[in-house]
Order: sequence, then structure tokens, then C-alpha cells
Amino acid sequence: MEEIPVKVAVRVRPLLSKEILHNQQVCVRLVQNANQVIIGKDHVFTFDFVFGENSTQEEVYAVCIKPLLVSLTEGYNALVFAYGQTGSGKTYTIGGEDSASVAADERGIIPRAIQELFHHISEHRNINFHVKVSYIEIYKEELRDLLDLETSMKDLHIREDEKGNTVIVGSKEFQVECADEVISLLESGNAARHTGTTQMNEHSSRSHAIFTISIHQKQSAEYQNAAQDSISSKFHFVDLAGSERLAKTGNTGERFKESVKINSGLFALGNVISALGDPKRKSAHIPYRDAKITRILKDSLGRNAKIVMITCISPSSLDFDESLNSLKYANRAKNIRNKPVVNYNPEKDRIDEMEPEIRLLQEALQSQQVSNQHLHDLNEEKGRVSSLEEKLTRLQVQYFSYRNCVDEALLLLVDLNDDVSLRRSQRDRLQSWISMVQKVRKEALTVQETDTGTETSPVPHHITVLQQKRDLEKCQQVLAMNEELFSQKNHEVQILQNQTKALLQEKKEQQEFLKEAQETQRLQMTEFHIRRQIILSKLEDQDKVLHCHLPDQSDEEEDNTRCEEKTSYKCSINQTWTQNHASLCFLPDVSDMKHQVDKSGLSNKSALQTDTNTGEESDSLQNSHVINMQKLTNSELRLAKTEQKIRKLALNMKRKEELIKDLVRTGKDALSVSWQCSLKISQLEQEIEQAKTQLSETQKQLQEPDSKELRDIPEKVMLQKECQKKTEAAKLKVQKREARELAQKVAQLKHQLSQIEERLCEESEKKK
Ligand code: ADP
Ligand code: MG
Repeated sequence: MEEIPVKVAVRVRPLLSKEILHNQQVCVRLVQNANQVIIGKDHVFTFDFVFGENSTQEEVYAVCIKPLLVSLTEGYNALVFAYGQTGSGKTYTIGGEDSASVAADERGIIPRAIQELFHHISEHRNINFHVKVSYIEIYKEELRDLLDLETSMKDLHIREDEKGNTVIVGSKEFQVECADEVISLLESGNAARHTGTTQMNEHSSRSHAIFTISIHQKQSAEYQNAAQDSISSKFHFVDLAGSERLAKTGNTGERFKESVKINSGLFALGNVISALGDPKRKSAHIPYRDAKITRILKDSLGRNAKIVMITCISPSSLDFDESLNSLKYANRAKNIRNKPVVNYNPEKDRIDEMEPEIRLLQEALQSQQVSNQHLHDLNEEKGRVSSLEEKLTRLQVQYFSYRNCVDEALLLLVDLNDDVSLRRSQRDRLQSWISMVQKVRKEALTVQETDTGTETSPVPHHITVLQQKRDLEKCQQVLAMNEELFSQKNHEVQILQNQTKALLQEKKEQQEFLKEAQETQRLQMTEFHIRRQIILSKLEDQDKVLHCHLPDQSDEEEDNTRCEEKTSYKCSINQTWTQNHASLCFLPDVSDMKHQVDKSGLSNKSALQTDTNTGEESDSLQNSHVINMQKLTNSELRLAKTEQKIRKLALNMKRKEELIKDLVRTGKDALSVSWQCSLKISQLEQEIEQAKTQLSETQKQLQEPDSKELRDIPEKVMLQKECQKKTEAAKLKVQKREARELAQKVAQLKHQLSQIEERLCEESEKKK
């Protein structure tokens, strides 16, 4: 098996118009003949193919992809993947753009490969081709079917089949017949791809996309010979998301998260490439499982695919770092060496694998058939044995019936031999027959003894039969006696049944009578209920009347709100009294009712007396009814009393509530009064202070003329008089105010006192 390295190509795109506008400088040069890329001043890299800014799509395809397509048709697996920073031209090169917006000569690798494949198919009519395509995207480390967007990400799983081939379980594979069909599928997938605007590319691909063409080819029947097998192969076209430094892209939020996932996937791919390309680590662990992209590409990267890596770089000096990194990344991939093999039809391999299994199964089938034959024979034998057994039992039955006949005949003939006179010849014949039978019986007995191995009684058979007959007779006698007993018992049962019937009839009658009595009682109860309602309504009416009379008693106190409340107390107390009174009045009413009940009872009684059969029972019923009525009356009385008590309690509660409210109010009043008092005291203090200052001023004024103008005595006297007057007036003022306040306080206290007195009165009344 030949080992071939991964082919690495570098494509440098031209400066984009916006880059030219910003006057960006080119930092990448190519040495076409030497397949070298020089970046910056002294970074030189050599690759399998290098494509400059003037390279065409056709050129890239013809150099890199065409050989892979040929290999695909020969049965080899192929993989092409585009690597590079965002905006370096990966999607452009692979052909993942919207083909409607791209000119025919600018179409990328995939559409060209599709065209070529179907061209190849059309040229090989002797081969039956089956082409299938699938298009998967890895977005934020989740698989997405770009050809069937309704497939949930959770339904897509990466698996390895028994041959180590990677399979994406759950992805849709479309069987296609022509190039146009594939192109339209590709376009719908491209449209569904996750893209987003970044600082570096307006339509930056935010995911890794894997477009796969699987072909299955087989010689047509007319050209086929036994030596040729069918071939299956697949071609992965991978457009990786941009390798980007987070700082440079300036991504935030969701874009930042995407970038992290993209970079981790590319990092894992870089590690796999490094591991595969390192000759020292060849046998060591390859970290395929670190990312989805490496898991999917596992069978192509590390096994038998022909691989081309296209590294896309921007020529702009602004992208120098990224371009240098991409070139270093690509340089590592050069060391990967694969061993591509033709993938013969896995169906044939499977048949080969299954051959020993088929042989084993055939052997098992044969042995099964043999054992089946045995089973059949065994069943036949069993059938024969069972039919023989049946025959045997039938014969045994016959034998026993014959033996019984012979036994009977023997007994008869023995008797005849004794009693009847026979001719000699006849007697001899009979004797010889009897001895023959006895001999046969003896033989049979010896056979039976040897068969069972037990000793049998030496009693002859006919004696046993006689004994049995006697037993039978006895049994018959017992049976006859039993029958007689049975008929007697039957008669007794008959009598008992008649009695039961009579009792049942009686019970029925009793039940009917009971029903009637219950009905009467029910009617009486309803009557009582109605009367009770009437009495209650009467009582309520009486209550209302009393209630209406009460306000007259408190006419004098109409203006006083507190007194109104009191009135309501009094009213409620009176109401309680009247209710008490009413409840007392209720007693004769109830006795009246009882009297009426008695009456109705009597009327019922008279009605019942007509029935002579049930007279006594009706009497007892009547008595119980009267007792029940008494009980009912008592309970009614008790109920009325309890209701009264409840009412009293409710009233008490109300009164207590009112008292509490009053107390609270008085407390508030007292507080406000004290506050007002303190206010007035401070006001008075201020006034006293003012009066004092006035007084001292006037005294000063008085002293001044004393010292300065001693001569002006009458004026001095005047002033002194004025001063005295003022002082007296002030004193009077103060005294008056004090007296007023005191009077107010006294009035307030009086008012409070009267309130307390009133409450005391109320309480004493309540107690009464
Ligand atoms: P990537 O997929 O790497 O992010 P794109 O393929 O989307 O980048 O390319 C970015 C822009 O550069 C697109 O507008 C594309 O048309 C343009 N472009 C890329 N490579 C070339 C090229 N070789 N010739 C002309 N234009 C190119
Ligand atoms: Mg892209």
C-alpha cells in the first residue's frame, strides 16, 4: 500500500476594493516556480501548490481537485478542506457562495466537481452509478443538517461503523440523478448556513460546512464479469469557519461565543494535523474526539483518503499575523501521510464475512432436519403404543365381562349339578367343564400372584360374589330406609316452607302498617313545623313593635351623640327583656300545640280504632307518638332558650365592644386635653415673660428720669401711675386667663366625670 502525503495548497487572494481604498500594502509574494510563499521580509514557505492573486477558479480546480475527482471515480475517498482567516477566500474557493450571484468562470470547487462527476458518469454508460449527497454544518459544536433543517440537532450523531468509517446517523442523504439537482441542493444548503457580519467579512461563515458526495458504482449487467466488484467512495468538501483572533475581530456577545467555538474546533484540527504529521507520534494517541470536525474527518484524515488542504490568505499587511499563522498551520499538514485504498463494495465484504456464518447455519438446519425425522418416528411409535394400550383396555373389559358370565354360569351349573338329575354323559361333561374352569381360575390366580408378588386370599371367587350379593342386599335395605327418612324430611321441609311463607306475609302486612304510621307521623311533623314558624314570626313581630316604641324614651337626649349610643344599649336591653317575656309567652303556645297534637293524635286514634286487628299496636304507636311529641316540644323549648342565650351573649359582646371604643376615645380625648393644656401653659409662660420684660422696661424708664431730671416730679408721678396701671392690667389679664382655663378644665373634668358616672350606671343596669 503506497503512502502518500497530504497535498497542501496556498491561495493568496487579491486585495479587495475596500483594502485598496484604504491603501493597504501587500506583504505576500509568491515564487511560482519553486511553489514558495514569502510573507514579510524573510518568512518563506514551500507548498505543493501556490496560487497568486491572478489565479483563476478553474486553475485551482484543475490543479488541486481534478486528480481527487478522478481518484473518487476510481474508488478512493477524497477530502478537500479550506483553511484560513475570515475573509481570506475559503468560501469563494470551495464554492459555497450563492451560485446565482457568481459568474460561471467564478464558480468554486464544488459546482465544478459536480459537473465533472456527472460528465464522467455520462461517459461511462457501462457503469451503474448511484450518487448521494449530504450537507452538514457544525455550528457552535452542534451538528445541523443543511438539507433538512427540520431535523433536530439532537437526532444527529457521529458514529463509526464496523470498518472504522465515520457515519453521521440521522443526516439526510439525497439520491441525485443530475448535476442541476445537486447544485440546487448545494444552494439551498448554502442559504441555510450560519453567516454573520464581522469586522473582517460582511458574510463571514460562522460554522464549519461539510458537503459530501458519495458514489456507488457497479458494472452494468451486460459488461459485468465475476471478477469485478462494485465500488463505493465519498468526497468531502469542507469549508472551515474563519480562524480569527478575538482581539482583531472585535466580536462581542453571540459572535464572541461563536468565535470561541470556531477557534476550539480549528485548534483541535490543528492538534490532529500535528499528531498525524509528527513521525515520532505516529503510533501515539490522535485527539480526534476533541471536536466534532475532527471526529467527522477522522476516517479521511488518518486513513485512506486523498487529501488536499487549501490555505487561503489575505495579501494585506494588516493581516500579516493571521496569514503567517495560517501558513504555519498549513506547513504542519504537509507532514501527514495517508495510505489510500480503493473501497470495494462493502456488500461483497459482508458476504465474505457472512459465509462461515451461513455455513454454520446450513449445518444447524441439516441437524435440525435430522432431529425432526427422529421426532417424527418417535411420535409414530407413541401413536402405535397408545392404540395398543386402548386395545388392551378394551380386551381387559371384555375379559372381565366374560369372566363374570363364566362365574355366574359356574354358580348356576354347580347348583344344577347338586339339585337336578342329569344323564350320566351330561353330568360327566358338566363335571369336566367345572374342573376345567377351576383349573383355568387356579392358573389365573397363580399368574396374578406372580404379577403382583403378593399373596391373595384362598377364598374362591364365587364365594366372594355371594358375599357381595349379600352386601348389596343389605345396602339396598339401608337405601330403602334412607329413602323413607328422606321423604319424611321432605314433608317436614314442606311444612317449614309453608310456615315461612305465612311469616313473610305477616311481615309484609306489618311493613305496610308501619309505612302508614310513618306517613301520619310525617304529616304531623310538617304541621308542627308550620306552627313553629308562625309562632316565631309572631315573636319577631312583637320584638319589632317594642323596638319601635323605645326611641320615645330618649327624646330628651336627641342632640347628644353619646347618649344616642346609650339609647341603643338601653333599647337592646329592653329588647332582651321583651324577648325573655316573649319566650315566656311561648310556653302556653307550645302547650296549645301539644294539645292540638293530642287532638290530632286522638283523631288518628279514632281512625285507627276502626281497624280491629291492629288496635293494640296502634295504641302503642299512639303512645310512642305522644312521647315523641313531648320530646319534640321540650327540645323546641330548649332551642328557644339557647337562641335567647345566644342573642344575650351577642348583645353583651356588642356592649363590651362599644365600651372598649369609648374607653379608647376617652383616652384620646385625655391626651388631646393634656396636649392643649401644655400648649396653653407654654403660651402663658411666654406672656408672663413678655409682661416681665415690659415691667422691667417701664421700671428702667422710671429710673432714668429719676437720675436725669429729678426736677420734673409730676411727670414722674404720671409715669409711675401708668406703670402701676399697666402692671395691674397685666396681672388681671393673667389672672383672668388662668381663671378661664381653670374653668375649662373643671368643665372637662365634670364632663369626664359624668361620662364615667353614666358608664357606671350602665354597668350596674347590665348587672341587674
Ligand atoms: P471566507 O470564506 O474565508 O471568510 P470569502 O470566501 O467569503 O472569505 O471571501 C471574502 C471576499 O473576498 C468575498 O467577497 C470574495 O468574493 C472575495 N474573494 C476571496 N477570494 C477571492 C479571489 N481569489 N478572487 C477574487 N475575490 C476573492
Ligand atoms: Mg466563508
